[in-house]
Amino acid sequence: MKIGILKEQKDKRVALAPATVKKLKGLGVEILVEKNAGFAAHYPDEEYAEYASVLSRANVLAEADLLISVFPPPDADLKKLKEGTALLSQFRPYFDTTVTGKLQKLKLKGFSMDMIPRTTLAQTMDLLSSMASIAGYKAVLTAAQLLPRYFPMLITAAGSIRPAKVLVLGAGVAGLQAIATAKRLGAMVEASDTRLAAKEEVESLGGKFIVVEGAKDEKTAGGYAVEQTEEFLKRQREEVQARAMKADVIITTAQVRGRKAPLLVPKSTVEKMNPGSVIVDLAASTGGNCELTKDNETVEFNGVTIVGDSELAATVTQDASFLFGNNVFNFIKVIIKDGALHLDMKNVIVAGAYFTAES
Ligand code: NAD
Repeated sequence: MKIGILKEQKDKRVALAPATVKKLKGLGVEILVEKNAGFAAHYPDEEYAEYASVLSRANVLAEADLLISVFPPPDADLKKLKEGTALLSQFRPYFDTTVTGKLQKLKLKGFSMDMIPRTTLAQTMDLLSSMASIAGYKAVLTAAQLLPRYFPMLITAAGSIRPAKVLVLGAGVAGLQAIATAKRLGAMVEASDTRLAAKEEVESLGGKFIVVEGAKDEKTAGGYAVEQTEEFLKRQREEVQARAMKADVIITTAQVRGRKAPLLVPKSTVEKMNPGSVIVDLAASTGGNCELTKDNETVEFNGVTIVGDSELAATVTQDASFLFGNNVFNFIKVIIKDGALHLDMKNVIVAGAYFTAES
């Protein structure tokens, strides 16, 4: 069986780092890597060549039985694959409602890393958590870079500096890493989440948890947040506004799986923020938590900088590629047996990720 790794067209990460390719070889498969696949992540071809064949894109597409990429390959590439080829990527069929039919029509098998159930057993494959954690960290560094102020409190001969106030909305994987990073930089941190389980986690990192009464917190949602009523969101926006007026930085990460991100920072709140403040919206790709967010853009409004970027993990190219590849490898171990694809559809991890099964 041949496993192909592509060079990404619009991302600096690579789906597998050389160290992971070495482990993959141990599964009795042959590995084909597109030339320069790891270049932008600072993994040179020579490192891959020890364990894999480094080939042109056309050759990888023509020969691969399982093709791995960070994002789905463009349609033109899909047409160059053999019938029956399996693809492993972040297809997000929750949002892209056309992708399942497209792959089925071309007789390709699709596995989506973002569809793996987030159970304890699948923790080593949890790409969403790996990438969200990096994004939370990088969101704080991005804000610190843009903020015209210090993060820590400083008492100097020239005067005293008060610590920056950071407000984190959504205390899941990204939010908790943002809290930890902002605390390490010396900021004062407040955070809010609809899941009450987040309170203890926020406090254990030294943050202050903002309780907004009346949140729906359904135990059946597998740890994910459920959609809140408009009445609750209105109350929450009022709480956020009171704090946003004093905040130097707001990091927003609030998501509801399969839905548009909740609006937590309306334009009227941004209008009341201090000039120089920074908002980093990690929910930008699903509509944004801030009304003024523009996906993949940094905009300024009344002196407030608003960064809309849901792919901040991609900027930590080397470590993000390493973790991405390890998550992928742990999943591949489940779908390969004796060097060939072996799909046990009774396994909830396999059934969850495999989204092109004919019903
Ligand atoms: P996510 O990216 O879907 O959402 C981010 C956060 O936004 C969540 O904490 C959510 O509760 C919060 N949110 C949604 N609506 C909100 C609102 N109106 N106001 C404030 N916050 C709001 O979620 P995630 O970070 O990927 O994961 C969420 C949780 O899932 C984790 O904290 C964890 O408890 C659980 N989880 C479990 C596992 C596992 O068991 N292996 C793995 C990963 C995550």
